Amino acid sequence: MTTPALPDLAALTDLAATLSQGRVSGLRWADGDGTLALVLDITGLTDAEREAAESALREGLSTAPGVTAVRIAMTRARITRRIIAVGSGKGGVGKSTLSANIAIALARQGRKVGLVDADIYGPSQPRLFGAEDLKPQARGNRLIPVQSRFGVPMLSTGQIATPGQAIAWRGPMAGRALEQLIDAEWGDADLLIVDLPPGTGDVQLSMLQKHKPVGAVIISTPQDLALMDAQRAIGLFDQMQVPILGVVENMAGYLCPHCGEISDPFGHGGAEAAARDQGLEFLGRVPLDIAIRTASDDGAPPAASDGLMAQPFAAIAVRIGAWLDARGGIASGHGP
Ligand code: ADP
Repeated sequence: MTTPALPDLAALTDLAATLSQGRVSGLRWADGDGTLALVLDITGLTDAEREAAESALREGLSTAPGVTAVRIAMTRARITRRIIAVGSGKGGVGKSTLSANIAIALARQGRKVGLVDADIYGPSQPRLFGAEDLKPQARGNRLIPVQSRFGVPMLSTGQIATPGQAIAWRGPMAGRALEQLIDAEWGDADLLIVDLPPGTGDVQLSMLQKHKPVGAVIISTPQDLALMDAQRAIGLFDQMQVPILGVVENMAGYLCPHCGEISDPFGHGGAEAAARDQGLEFLGRVPLDIAIRTASDDGAPPAASDGLMAQPFAAIAVRIGAWLDARGGIASGHGP
């Protein structure tokens, strides 16, 4: 008895492409009995999405003429995850606010970005993202970031510490906690924005040593950059050979909501001038605006809005994106 000829692969290749949204390659007959073999690219898929893709392929292909079995091998591109550290010389200059909003603006510009709140002394990202009720789960010994409403997965030291307790981690403990956050299951996020604790202590030093950010962004109030605090932060990144992407001036110019007059409680342009003096890029300026504070307190980050408030963050994100693109993107290989 002769085996019937197997159908042409072209139609099956098209069907597999449709069923998997273009994730199938290497479709072939594995042997003469109608076993169809293929490779499914599962890069960036969650477990549930991977299972759904796999069963859609199995069901869709196994009923096609000539197919008796479907054999699926999986492949995943290795994502080189790049870290951008956001630092400031001291607290209260808006580092956390800027980190959250820059991450959201980058996501709105199509980047796959996650946020790590490494500010162990005052982890405020869960509040900024309106994600205080969300707790990260773990798979094996790895954390799964919380999916915020703004397209940015996030993890915060505040989520892994006991609520209400002052975080009094000492060096090695803090280091281990940060490691857990950075080495979490970030999926297809190829960029992590890390909101560092303010200042230049051991925690910052060991984080920079261990995780080697591709670049750092310095947040400063207008008058601050010329002062010691911000200089120390710049010195820290220089010492660790982390390139400084540039400086963001926060709380520049106060627009009075009552009289409409603009005043400059912290001066104006000081950070820009000082940045340029030192040969650093100036990434942009965010005004002191009470609406930024109230939106932030409400867990409604201004960068996620369609209003004027989103614009400075979008402009800063464009500059950061251009800096990253100039340095190349994802390297891929085959993982498990
Ligand atoms: P840091 O992380 O540097 O300690 P935060 O981001 O927590 O600073 O900001 C400190 C306070 O200042 C917060 O209440 C925040 O809402 C407010 N804030 C930050 N940037 C602005 C701004 N541009 N306009 C108004 N309020 C701001």
